[in-house]
Amino acid sequence: MTETWTSAFTYLIWLTNTLRQNQIDDIISAEILYPSTDKNLYKIVIKNMVHGPCGALSSLPPCLKEGNCSKMYPRQFIKETQFATDSYPLYRRRKPEDGRQTATVKMKSDSVVIDNQWIVPYSPLLLKMFDAHINVECCNSVKSIKYILKYVHKGSDQSVFAAHSSNNSINKISEHHTGRYISSNEAAWRIFGFPIHERHPTVIHLDMHLGNGQRIYFSEDNLQCRLSNPPNTTGFFELCKNDNFAKTLLYCNVPKFYTWDK
Ligand SMILES: [Zn+2]
Repeated sequence: MTETWTSAFTYLIWLTNTLRQNQIDDIISAEILYPSTDKNLYKIVIKNMVHGPCGALSSLPPCLKEGNCSKMYPRQFIKETQFATDSYPLYRRRKPEDGRQTATVKMKSDSVVIDNQWIVPYSPLLLKMFDAHINVECCNSVKSIKYILKYVHKGSDQSVFAAHSSNNSINKISEHHTGRYISSNEAAWRIFGFPIHERHPTVIHLDMHLGNGQRIYFSEDNLQCRLSNPPNTTGFFELCKNDNFAKTLLYCNVPKFYTWDK
């Protein structure tokens, strides 16, 4: 096999209480911390959360598109975390001149000194738990939520790869396989039928209309049937006539306790 597979997962978590601008630094960091604060976390950040370096520091990384980094590194220095219109927040990245930590990372031939401009935003807690590359972002704009939702549902990574046998015989068909990579844990998740998306409270569309004003969809074939037996959308009122508990509920709370069976 000539392809190296890596597997990546994206999660979008909805918080009950909105994250305020002054709370982001408690959860997400985009800075190299001082080794004296937490040597273990410092090492994990340098090992997993440094982007590139690309651009002037190295000319051949895969993120470069027409000479510019497609991931927009190095990011700008900024003293305080700020919300940006239409994208992720601009996380606090303070300058080495202001006394902030730098680090030396090894490249193929030599080593370079990097600063906070090259750090991918992370959660200190998650990094300490998993010692892995885990990019954490605050999705505060509609645009970033839309992007993440599309990303979550785009499916598994796809690739074209070739398989070669050891005796060098050429098989034209096996030169071009197309496949999707599903890791063992993702496969197990799907085999057991666990949910891939969860939202609470569930958003449900409830019809509201005047008496006999319900929407009816019909075709030539079922016209007579629909006329004589129109869909019943007044289940809530019927329910309240006969059910003492339902009488105590507001219309919007009924789906928490009852389901509508057409
Ligand atoms: Zn780059």
